[in-house]
Amino acid sequence: MTIDERFKTIRQHIEDATKSARRDSNSVTLLAVSKAQEINKIEQAYQLGQKAFGESYLSEALPKIEALSHSDIDWHFIGPIQSNKTKDIAENFDWVQSVDRIKIARRLNEQRPTKLGKLNVLVQVDLFEESTKQGCQLKDLDELLDFVVQQPNLHLRGLMAIPPRQSNTQQQLDQFSQIALVFENVKKTYPEVDVLSMGMSDDMTSAIAAGSNMVRIGSALFGERPANWKSKLK
Ligand SMILES: *Cc1c(COP(=O)(O)O)cnc(C)c1O
Repeated sequence: MTIDERFKTIRQHIEDATKSARRDSNSVTLLAVSKAQEINKIEQAYQLGQKAFGESYLSEALPKIEALSHSDIDWHFIGPIQSNKTKDIAENFDWVQSVDRIKIARRLNEQRPTKLGKLNVLVQVDLFEESTKQGCQLKDLDELLDFVVQQPNLHLRGLMAIPPRQSNTQQQLDQFSQIALVFENVKKTYPEVDVLSMGMSDDMTSAIAAGSNMVRIGSALFGERPANWKSKLK
């Protein structure tokens, strides 16, 4: 399949999922996850009208952002964040979806160049004690949200989650619904919050049914990532 065909398929997928959830088809944003993908594929997707791209690894992302600096792409950082990486993230990305602790939020705020405007932030939540150790636990969430919302160079936009992979649709729905419930509560406290980022290639239908309004799609858009791509990362 060409990228063009893959995009059409995914857009149709989103439309079907929103329809069966009785939601507006425009209510779900598609984030194209371009990690492990060549610049020319990103460019092709951009030419097809895709504007939001997600990257997980800084060493891979920076050359791509540089090469595509003529575009108006919105770059989302979605990977684990080490504190020595926050400066490059704050200077090169429009969104960070994986903020999971105060230390990272503080550094991003301090290092965000004022001339770039506020950095959009999603707090990554971990409701299911994932083995990856990424994500803010529920007991720490209020404190982190409260901190982010007070930072002048950060704009709290919502939550991101990567629940454990489930092949069973009911289990997917159950996990996503629990996250959506947390999101609804967060919105009550912070009315400016508007983004719930959950759902990937394999479980986007369940995520949309549960209330996701941003799906992060990689392999279904660009094809499978090369098996050895991580070994090339610094
Ligand atoms: C890689 C990745 C995705 C995309 O995964 P696919 O299964 O290829 O759609 C989404 N979100 C995060 C955080 C990722 O790291």
